[in-house]
Amino acid sequence: MNCQICLKKAESRYHSRCLKQFFDQTGVDPLIPMTASEFYQNAPAHVAGFSISGAQVKMQMNVKDKQLVITASGGDYILKPSPQTFPQAAENEHLCLQIAKMLKFETPPVALLNFTDDSLVFAIKRFDRQRTNEHENEQTQQKIHQEDLMQAMGLAKLTSNSKYEYSYQQVLLDLITIANGLHLSAEFFKRLVFAYLIGNDDLHLKNISLLYTPKGIMLTPLYDYLNTALYGVNASVMALSMLPEHKETACFNQMGNGYYYQADFIELGLSVGLSEKFIHKSIHALTDKTDKILSLIQHSHLDPIRQQQFIDVLNNRKARLE
Ligand SMILES: [Zn+2]
Repeated sequence: MNCQICLKKAESRYHSRCLKQFFDQTGVDPLIPMTASEFYQNAPAHVAGFSISGAQVKMQMNVKDKQLVITASGGDYILKPSPQTFPQAAENEHLCLQIAKMLKFETPPVALLNFTDDSLVFAIKRFDRQRTNEHENEQTQQKIHQEDLMQAMGLAKLTSNSKYEYSYQQVLLDLITIANGLHLSAEFFKRLVFAYLIGNDDLHLKNISLLYTPKGIMLTPLYDYLNTALYGVNASVMALSMLPEHKETACFNQMGNGYYYQADFIELGLSVGLSEKFIHKSIHALTDKTDKILSLIQHSHLDPIRQQQFIDVLNNRKARLE
């Protein structure tokens, strides 16, 4: 079997070092002490949305006396089981975050945990809290200020649908304004190429967030990345258009098959002032690692049919990016 944290071969569900890293302590029992249906009974009412993140029921979790405790708020971890309409979303998101980690993107610690009925749930450590050991035995929690891009740009009053009416060019330009330079924009550009490569077609404004840290404004670690192409839920390939007012880049228009090509990403990057050299390097840093991505997919907890579908999406997107 493969470790439900690092996906490498293991004697049991987890390597003990992986569990220790995830929980910041040894000896934690990783079993969630309820069945999946008990979890849903305890979860607050939710509105099923069109997007996968909107359809997911989330609960929080803490560790107390080496046991997992579910809580409605104030937890150090977030739990997301797979919605019925999106089978294996938990396994899918866990895999995507592990791919991101392998590709050196900043990611929060993630794991697949089990309910007592054996079904899997995606667990992610919250990155907007920081524990500090101010007193000898007492840990205090500090909340780090976090805003999604809609709030940061004062767009929060727009209707929830308008998060899909923005364009990636506007996102890149906003990040240049916020950072007063190219570095956030450059990082987001890489994430956009990554999202496209792995079929995460739901990268909208609510999934792009900033952390206000003492060191300055940063993009949050990656979250809510999963291969949505496996479910065929989106009308268009990406959540936002490349250019404002639903306009697209030249190659996309010319090809007319709904896919982006390397030329589209080059046009987008150049239009906000990224250099051609940087754009090429960013794309190839990802496409050159396809073999390693493939291996992670094959070691993932997705069933073999979905693994193959994931590989098909990857190969399809890679060919267009090269
Ligand atoms: Zn492991």
